[in-house]
Amino acid sequence: MWPLFALVLGLVIGSFLNVVIHRLPKGESLAYPPSYCPSCGHRLGPKDLVPVLSYLALRGRCRYCQSPISPRYPLVEAITGSLFLLAALFYPPSPMAFLVFAFLAFLVALAFIDLDTYELPDALTYGLLFLGLAASYFLAFPLPFRKSLDGALMAAGGLGLVAGYGGLFLRRFRERRPEVPVGPHQVHMAALLGALLGPGVGMALAFLTWALSARTGRPVVLPDRLTLPLLPVALLLAPALGLDLLESLKGSLVAAGGLALAGGLYWAFRPAPPEEEEEPVAMGYGDVKLLGALGAWLGLYAFLALLLAVFLGAAFGLVLRRQKIPFGPYLALGGVVAFFFGEAIWKAYLHLLGI
Ligand SMILES: [Zn+2]
Repeated sequence: MWPLFALVLGLVIGSFLNVVIHRLPKGESLAYPPSYCPSCGHRLGPKDLVPVLSYLALRGRCRYCQSPISPRYPLVEAITGSLFLLAALFYPPSPMAFLVFAFLAFLVALAFIDLDTYELPDALTYGLLFLGLAASYFLAFPLPFRKSLDGALMAAGGLGLVAGYGGLFLRRFRERRPEVPVGPHQVHMAALLGALLGPGVGMALAFLTWALSARTGRPVVLPDRLTLPLLPVALLLAPALGLDLLESLKGSLVAAGGLALAGGLYWAFRPAPPEEEEEPVAMGYGDVKLLGALGAWLGLYAFLALLLAVFLGAAFGLVLRRQKIPFGPYLALGGVVAFFFGEAIWKAYLHLLGI
């Protein structure tokens, strides 16, 4: 009964996610108006809203105006239903199982919104992050809190640095105009200082420059051309300075992640900084926040999710040959695979190496 219940619940939640995917990016209310046909505007009744089945019964056409209904709607419902079913096979009925359902629902919504709009709404990335941290804090699920927090910070810090280096190369080492009061510059600075002085001090100094930037209205930062090239040097020299290399790396990622997630949260509540001339970027900060959220649920397996996403993205990118490919759907898929099968994949990999 439990797997069947999960499947039906997933179909119903999937139907709600269609509304979220459609309306959230436009800032429309999720509750009002009730569902209507996008072609003729006719209000849909209960008979039109049965997940998947209505679509099949109506042969993919609106009951009132006969215009075709996008197969996306039953697809989202079917995907959500299948994922909930999968979760029910891993987790018996419990509050934990419902947390996993929520994790999956967030990822489905994020993946499809990114496909449509190339954006990952802060409400969803931070919602997923804080839900994962809260679940770890109160239930020690899916991870002990410490691992969840470290996972979130290190994952966000890691991808934030990838974005930093990628951007620097794409701009051919031209300095990017720093954002006031906080932006990627502070993330890169925190990474360097965190590697040398530990995550606490690294973060504190970066927050200090944030405060000074806010106070003076002008950027108070070290240039990327300095911080980013110095970071690998600092890590290489760590053992010579009497530091543990792994601790330095962790300090660097944690400090960078702290600034990336705190800075992102700040901008989530502010009007976006004025659009500059199109700067080439390797990766949006939406992806950084999403990987941070995955870190709260997966711990260090978030890096496995990232690796899977890169491979999947490369594979699909070759097939689809599109100019602009959103990365969020691949991260979401990598996150689902890593959540259920991360440990098995890791063990198989170690086995392959003969360890
Ligand atoms: Zn219609």
